[in-house]
Amino acid sequence: MMRIVLLGAPGSGKGTQAQRLQAKYGVPQVSSGDLLREAVAQGTELGLKAKSVMDAGQLVSDDIVLGLIRQRLSRPDAAKGFILDGFPRNIDQANSLHALLEDLGQPLDAVLLLDVRHSTLMERLAGRRICPKCGTVYNVHSMAPGATGCSKDGAELFQRPDDKEAVIGKRLEVYEQQTRPLVQHYAKLNLLRTVAGEGELEDVFQRMESAALTRGAPAGKVKVRARKVARSKSSKRKTAAKKPSTKSQAPAKRKSVSGSAKSKSKSKVARRKAVPAKAKAKPASKKAQRKAKAPAKRPARKK
Ligand code: AMP
Repeated sequence: MMRIVLLGAPGSGKGTQAQRLQAKYGVPQVSSGDLLREAVAQGTELGLKAKSVMDAGQLVSDDIVLGLIRQRLSRPDAAKGFILDGFPRNIDQANSLHALLEDLGQPLDAVLLLDVRHSTLMERLAGRRICPKCGTVYNVHSMAPGATGCSKDGAELFQRPDDKEAVIGKRLEVYEQQTRPLVQHYAKLNLLRTVAGEGELEDVFQRMESAALTRGAPAGKVKVRARKVARSKSSKRKTAAKKPSTKSQAPAKRKSVSGSAKSKSKSKVARRKAVPAKAKAKPASKKAQRKAKAPAKRPARKK
C-alpha cells in the first residue's frame, strides 16, 4: 500500500518518478495534468474549458480538477494506493483532497517534495520532449545529437505547448505563489519528506523509494539527501571548470603566444598533431615488442 502525493515545481521530475514508482510497486500514477490533457485531447466540454487556461500556464479551476481526481481515485485500481502527481496545487485543493480521502477511508501516508533548483527547472522544462506513443520523457540536452524520435518506438517526439519558453516562467510563478505554501501545510501535518531531486535519475528514484517506504518516522523531519552530494558537487565543479576552459582557456593560451589569428591556427594544428602522435604510440610500442622478440628468432636462423 502506497498512498502518496508528489509535490514539486513543474520540471522537478514528479511525472518521471511517479511512472517509475508505478512500474515497480503497481500503484497507479494519478496525474491531474495527464487527466486534463486527456480531456483536452478528447475534446470534451471540460477539456475545451481547460485548454486555454493550461496553455497560459495558469491553474484550471479547483472544481474541474477535483472532479477528475475524485473519478480517478474511485476506480478499482486505486484501492491499493495511488501516487498523486500534480495534485493538490493549492491549499483549497489540499483540503478537498483530505476530505475526499477521508470519505474513501484512504488517508495519505506521505507527501514527497522533489527539491530542484530554479535554474535546473528552467533547463528541464525548456528542453523537455515527450513521446506521443509511450509517454517517455526526454530532454534535448541529454539526447544523442540529431535524434528526434523515441528510442523505444521511434515515434516523433513533441513539445508540450506549455513547455514553450513564454509559458514556463508563468508556471513557475504560479507554483511559487499557489503551490509552495503546501510545503508548510504538509510539514505541519507531519507528512512532508523532502527528497533531493537533482542528479542521476536512478539515484533520485532510490531516494524517492526510501522516502516513500519509510514508516513511523517523524515524517516532517525526514530529509532524503543526495548520498553522494560531496562527489557529485565536486564532479559538477569539475565539469563546470572544464566546460568554460575549452572556450576560455584556449584563447588565453593563444593570447599568451602572440594573440594573432595565425597563432590560433597554429595551436589548432598543434592540437591536431598531438592526437595522431598519441595514436602512433601504440603501433610503435608493438614494433618495440616485435624487436624484443627478434633476438630469439635470430639464433634459430643461424642454425
Ligand atoms: P502538469 O502536467 O502537472 O505540469 O500540469 C499541466 C497544467 O495542467 C498546469 O499548468 C495547469 O494548467 C493544469 N493543472 C494540472 N494539475 C492541476 C491542478 N491540480 N490544479 C489546477 N490546474 C492543474
